Amino acid sequence: MRICKYCFRGFETQHLWHLIRPPLLCRTCYEQLEWHHRIENWHGIKIESLLDYGPTFQKMIYQLKANLDIELAPVFLNQHVPYLKLKYSQFTLVLAPTHEHDITLRGFHPLIEIYQSLNLPMMTLFEKNRPYRQAEQHGSDRQQIQNVIILKKGVTIPQQILLVDDVMTTGETIKAMINLLKPRRPQQLKILVLARKKQEKIEITTDIKNDKIRNWKQQTWHG
Ligand SMILES: [Zn+2]
Repeated sequence: MRICKYCFRGFETQHLWHLIRPPLLCRTCYEQLEWHHRIENWHGIKIESLLDYGPTFQKMIYQLKANLDIELAPVFLNQHVPYLKLKYSQFTLVLAPTHEHDITLRGFHPLIEIYQSLNLPMMTLFEKNRPYRQAEQHGSDRQQIQNVIILKKGVTIPQQILLVDDVMTTGETIKAMINLLKPRRPQQLKILVLARKKQEKIEITTDIKNDKIRNWKQQTWHG
């Protein structure tokens, strides 16, 4: 019997795979997270994400970062560790910046806690010159993140960089980091985030569908 790190209910492991990597969440909590595992091209850079930025993820990451529940840090990557470790074995993880004040207040760095299970070299190349939370900004204020993130002085830029963050919503933070790194010409630059904003689904109404079918039939008939 194992105890779920989120709901504290006991559960039995059900797969042989679980003997190698024991699950940290019960099946209900695991399935409430909206896993999507996407790899996309974003401004010419590969970005890999695991989850939709949905309600369960939002509650869990809040529980970790605001309620200081450090036990939740490994739950997001747990089942992906062997794959990610192999894929990024040549990379150095570069953490998205957090203001020193926030780290002191929390007593831990959430990104270090989340990503340390990959056992890859980690660096903090960036810092924020003032406390700034993307989620609390509106409209054009969000753009100002470009002025808040700076490259630390005297740092050596690794050649194979994997930029990591927990959440990507507007992408302004990631864009700011890329703009600072690109002039240094790293050999490889990729991005890994836990969660991204849900992709907009384009609803096709029945009327449009019927119109298309009608047009197609007419064209075929007359063509
Ligand atoms: Zn649970």
